[in-house]
Amino acid sequence: MYYERPPASGAFLPGELGAATFSAGNLEREEQLHALVDAIPQLVWIARPDGFAEYHNRRWCDYTGLSNEQSRGEGWLQAVHPDDRQQLIANRLEAVQTGNLTEVEYRLRNGTTGEYHWFLIQAVPQKDSKGTLIKWLGACTDIDRQKCVEQQLKASEENLRILAETIPQFVWITRPDGYVEYWNQQFANYFQATPEQIQGHRWRQFLHPADYDRAVSIRHHTLATGEPYETTYRLRNGRTGVYHWFLARAVPLRDEAGQISKWFGTCTNIDEQKHIEEALRQSQERAQALMDSNIIGIFIAHSGQVVEANDTYLRMTGYTREDLCAGKINWIHMTPPEYAAQTEQTFCELAAQGYRTPYEKELICKDGSRLAVVVGGTILHNNPHQFIGFVLDNSARKELEQRKDDFLSMAGHELRTPLTSLKLQTQIVKKRLAKKGLHETVAALTRMEEPVRQLERLIGELLDVSKIQMGQLEYANEPVDLDALLREIADTMQQMSNSHTIVVHGAAPRCMIGDKGRLEQIFINLLSNAIKYAPDTPLIEVEASTSGESATIKVRDYGVGIPREQREKIFERFYRASDPSRRAVSGLGMGLYIVAQIVTRMGGTITVESEIGEGSTFVVTLPLERPTDRSWQPATM
Ligand code: ADP
Repeated sequence: MYYERPPASGAFLPGELGAATFSAGNLEREEQLHALVDAIPQLVWIARPDGFAEYHNRRWCDYTGLSNEQSRGEGWLQAVHPDDRQQLIANRLEAVQTGNLTEVEYRLRNGTTGEYHWFLIQAVPQKDSKGTLIKWLGACTDIDRQKCVEQQLKASEENLRILAETIPQFVWITRPDGYVEYWNQQFANYFQATPEQIQGHRWRQFLHPADYDRAVSIRHHTLATGEPYETTYRLRNGRTGVYHWFLARAVPLRDEAGQISKWFGTCTNIDEQKHIEEALRQSQERAQALMDSNIIGIFIAHSGQVVEANDTYLRMTGYTREDLCAGKINWIHMTPPEYAAQTEQTFCELAAQGYRTPYEKELICKDGSRLAVVVGGTILHNNPHQFIGFVLDNSARKELEQRKDDFLSMAGHELRTPLTSLKLQTQIVKKRLAKKGLHETVAALTRMEEPVRQLERLIGELLDVSKIQMGQLEYANEPVDLDALLREIADTMQQMSNSHTIVVHGAAPRCMIGDKGRLEQIFINLLSNAIKYAPDTPLIEVEASTSGESATIKVRDYGVGIPREQREKIFERFYRASDPSRRAVSGLGMGLYIVAQIVTRMGGTITVESEIGEGSTFVVTLPLERPTDRSWQPATM
């Protein structure tokens, strides 16, 4: 709609420029030329030698929305992007002055949408036969798409360059034959090398000698086959001289014909990772060596199911590796019912402290037989459902203990019989001698009675230990006046000892249910120990009290005391202190064991408080009623 036909002057049209006269044929040709000029997709224009625009074709008018008249002279400048105008005017001036062919790019506004598109302006000077410039013929070609692609490409190239320079990896590009022609700054910085020292294949001088051949040979192979390249090698740090491990990777870029035009590669520093891997490998090796131990059975259980075990464990329990893989080993099923309490204890300890204090138990082996073991274990920090157990075959020790127990029991019985007849015979002889009035000999025989009583007590203790072991120690359930019993024992002990003073404080219950003989045994033992282990401090105190359903009796001395680490052990069978001050005192380490077993059996507790050199206090607490009698085993101490 803006388009106007140019003035009917041939001077405006190419080909006929400068013609002076027009025939009808000329006019027809002119029409055709107009049609042609309007048909071509470019925006076409004609300008005077001084740059004054005289004509714009229909495409120009359609695109810019400017009529021919509006575009005349400098009018067309309205369609040019304001930022490009100055440059364009300068270019035009230069072209006018030099008369040379010019090509410039600038933006023209689309009159309909208001958007600017990039155009390539090509102006051709039209000269007459004498070479005088008579017109400029110009065409503007829309190169907006091309320009956009170019800009995008440039932007993406720039992005890639920035990326390559910013990432911590080394980035490099090689020719198809592996010749390095580009590398990022990090690459050069690491080696502290000049471009000449890196270019081509020279960078290989920084490879660790031990990795050189392997790395180069792998590279040759990938260059020959076009397979992606991936390897690890050490490169020397130019500043420190230290070699670091790198992971090198490269992929080929192929052209349309499938030929490799370049290789794009990176090197990633994996030194730390390598060290971690190495440390892990070593730690795994050590763990494996531990696992391979032929002394300790080791297993890992997940919710009772044994998921891993070493050969020693399998050998001990009779299971095979196939059983293990088939999930046929279950720790819970291997635990005899009487150890349920210990299993419970295991769970509690694991939850509270993360490990299980070693304890003795039996395992049910694959063939149903039982194996005595010592078990300890721990849970994995990161996986508390996994239990690592350590199992020691304890059967040899148990067997030895059994033999020892059998021997003690036998010895006890064997000793008691002759001792009983010896005691009986002495009594008979003593009576006969008394009848005959041989008083001196009677007195001598009486002196024999005390050592015999001592021997009797010792043998009694030996037999008690055996009975406890077999769970055969009998207990009577009878009413006992504990207060009277305590005072009676204190009196008797006092009569036997001139060196110590036994003082009873407080009052014990007058009536409780228990075994009088066993209660006697408890307090005689504690008082004799107090006398034995406090040779230089004469005061021994017994403090009795009752509270609610229980009685508490404390036996206190001011003697040598017991070191902290021995305070639990003294209740173990045959345990005797190793320090010379107490070792010198005679004894067999049975007394406190028997005492503790009796107290436990009566449903009570025994503890000790002590300070080295200041004395010890044994605290016995007993329920006034006997607990319901259940099947009883010696308490593990
Ligand atoms: P024995 O006295 O025969 O060695 P016990 O079983 O009675 O055996 O005692 C075990 C150990 O406990 C003793 O060897 C001794 O070291 C220690 N002990 C017991 N009572 C006392 C005490 N009152 N003071 C210091 N140590 C004691």
